[in-house]
Amino acid sequence: MQSLNQLLWPAVCINCKQSICETDKNLCKKCWDELLDCTGADYCPRCGRDASRYAIVEGVCPDCQGKEIHFDHIARGGVYREALQQMILSFKKGRTELDLTLGFLANSALHGSSFAGEIEFFVPVPLHWSRRLVRGYNQSLVLTRKLKHATAKINTELVRIRRTKSQPAMVSATARVRNVAGAFAVRYGHKLAGRKICLVDDIKTTGATLNECAKTLKKAGASKVVALVLAVAGQKMS
Ligand SMILES: [Zn+2]
Ligand SMILES: [Zn+2]
Repeated sequence: MQSLNQLLWPAVCINCKQSICETDKNLCKKCWDELLDCTGADYCPRCGRDASRYAIVEGVCPDCQGKEIHFDHIARGGVYREALQQMILSFKKGRTELDLTLGFLANSALHGSSFAGEIEFFVPVPLHWSRRLVRGYNQSLVLTRKLKHATAKINTELVRIRRTKSQPAMVSATARVRNVAGAFAVRYGHKLAGRKICLVDDIKTTGATLNECAKTLKKAGASKVVALVLAVAGQKMS
């Protein structure tokens, strides 16, 4: 019966559309292997970049020593390449059905983190309204809605008040910091003061956006800000 079903409705990979033989999270074997390949490594709990657990001293990798990072910890699904990169790009271009697999990945990262238990609010990194109007949705909010947590609520009181340029990968870290400076604010009458907050985004590149968001939330009184991302890009920062 099952084989007949598969003949009528062949299962296809949600990412590359290849037919699935060994079905797992809607991905074919090739995409699943690639995904595992970019999600397995140890990483720095402060910046999210690859780091051997022996290189982490007092919770940070050598690259993070002495840097001003406004979020306290980060959890990541994986590294921004191969199948994961392809899935995130498609997810932003309208393939929101990828939220199942990406949500699974985000939940694994969240519940494998040191901070999952203490979060009170999930705050998706906001898009400027004009960009959301064009895309039709904020991919970070779609992802946030997939997170499973016993008590934490979604909070959308962080807003983007200035339209920033989209930043291609080659732009320097300094240019990225300048691009997002002052781009965020919290809504009047917000409930963020004294709260433990987890920012949610699809990709962390230099961390300039997450850093600016975390700075804004802390200025608004948040007692702790951590970050959850699907993927960390750009293994070099400075
Ligand atoms: Zn595939
Ligand atoms: Zn680090």
